Amino acid sequence: MTTTAPGTAPSQEVQEAGHADILIIGAGVSGIGAAHYMRERFPGRSVLILEAKDGHGGTWWTHRYPGVRSDSDLFTYGYRFKPWQGPAIASGPAILSYLDEVIAEEGLDEHIRYRHKVTSAGWSTADRRWTVEVTRADTGERLRYTTDFLWMCPGYYNHDKPHRPQWPGLDRYRGVLVHPQRWPEDLDVTGKRVIVIGSGATAATLIPAIAQDAAHVTMLQRSPSYFLAPPSEDQLAAELGPGELTFENLREAHIAVQDTLVKTAREDPSALHEFFMESMRPQLPEGFDIDKHFTPRYRPWQQRIGVVPEGDFFTALRAGKASIVTDTIDTFTETGIRVSSGEEIAADIVVTATGFTMSLFGDVAFAVDGEPVDFTDRVTWRGVMISGVPNMAYVFGYLRYSWTLRADMVCDLVSAMLERMDAAGATMVVPTLRPQDAGMERLPFCDPENFSAGYIMRAQDTLFKQGDREPWIHFLEYFQERDVLPKADLDDGSLVYS
Ligand SMILES: Cc1cc2nc3c(=O)[nH]c(=O)nc-3n(C[C@H](O)[C@H](O)[C@H](O)COP(=O)(O)OP(=O)(O)OC[C@H]3O[C@@H](n4cnc5c(N)ncnc54)[C@H](O)[C@@H]3O)c2cc1C
Repeated sequence: MTTTAPGTAPSQEVQEAGHADILIIGAGVSGIGAAHYMRERFPGRSVLILEAKDGHGGTWWTHRYPGVRSDSDLFTYGYRFKPWQGPAIASGPAILSYLDEVIAEEGLDEHIRYRHKVTSAGWSTADRRWTVEVTRADTGERLRYTTDFLWMCPGYYNHDKPHRPQWPGLDRYRGVLVHPQRWPEDLDVTGKRVIVIGSGATAATLIPAIAQDAAHVTMLQRSPSYFLAPPSEDQLAAELGPGELTFENLREAHIAVQDTLVKTAREDPSALHEFFMESMRPQLPEGFDIDKHFTPRYRPWQQRIGVVPEGDFFTALRAGKASIVTDTIDTFTETGIRVSSGEEIAADIVVTATGFTMSLFGDVAFAVDGEPVDFTDRVTWRGVMISGVPNMAYVFGYLRYSWTLRADMVCDLVSAMLERMDAAGATMVVPTLRPQDAGMERLPFCDPENFSAGYIMRAQDTLFKQGDREPWIHFLEYFQERDVLPKADLDDGSLVYS
């Protein structure tokens, strides 16, 4: 069926594309995991994934720069249901292959509609369903799906618009300007002078990967980050005896390491700071100014820690193939960048590893019963649903532990909630503030004292809030949640079923 809204051109006709009992938006790690659990636990329901890109993998589909890899171990970043076999830290292509396997083993491909970008989602209480509008990336066609339950798995950043500050003189620069989120397949760095702007994991991953071929790579950072250099052969695996070398044991061992890092960062940040400094010092060239280039202005783990297996980033520095300039950009010039000290750095290629533009729920415009949803007025329910938004869950994984540890638990909780609805014969569930929550303090999505990554801070004003009590809190750490989420009370009055 085709419908045309009054006054719209024929090209804007919207075609009815069908109904899915459960509709998942995004075919990244979260969406693929959600589809697995939904199909396993609700075999009688139809499950469909809408994905804006040409392929699945999300982050690992979009990011194709040289050396792209995880900074979490894959024993916890991989799904609980599909044991990871391989080194703890994995390349982007290896993670994509793992996701390919999940899709092939579970026959998920036929449940994914690629090049389907969701633009709006409207809930109707009268019909007890969502209507989701889609624009096809290839044809521009507009489609309309309906669903009983909407699962938002679009990640946290805009895959099409990376963050790049507007530096003075940018227009003048005559060299090649690249963002790691859009790495040109045919970019040849051989013999080129490269500047990488940024100090995070992306910069530290990219630099050793291109330093061999480039004439020289300069990391230009405003301020330093923390780095951890684990041995690439999995130390924890080496410590386990042959009979103990199971996926479960490796997973628990890696969780224990993450627990230690996260807890030490909270309880004794100075000790952790010293640990980072002392582990980096011997890997740096003689006389290297560690205070200037490697001493962050924040506590360890207040932003993500860069992982550089076997210290490959430091190796590039020691070999003289890479160097660091810690300064602010005064201006781009025709041939490179002048920094505030007056130093000019020449570059044939400038890579802006300056991070993400955060995107809330894939920039989908939400409405409930015809009223647009302003998420800044809303409060999260356990970091899984949003107050006043019926039959909608989202996945936001951990920032300090592996994302997927949380994604797996969110799927358990949503499954339990759907079972609870079935048992009660309910077709609608809405997180709703209870009388005792009436005067509850509204807190930001993320407390900057706790975690202050630029992409979250830049978007904080556009995000939903948290409350000061459960279930309106989104815990950031696995150690806080691992016993809480599985036991979440679905009958404490904060979820209204009908
Ligand atoms: C280079 C890099 C390395 C990282 N390494 C780690 C790591 O080691 N450990 C860790 O825990 N985290 C890491 N992260 C964070 C990472 O984003 C998450 O781990 C995880 O991949 C998020 O998965 P996701 O499926 O929720 O979202 P994404 O991977 O962002 O995928 C979302 C998908 O949804 C699609 N989508 C978005 N909006 C729409 C829409 N409106 N309509 C249709 N489709 C839409 C996108 O096209 C995309 O395919 C890394 C991030 C980056 C960029």
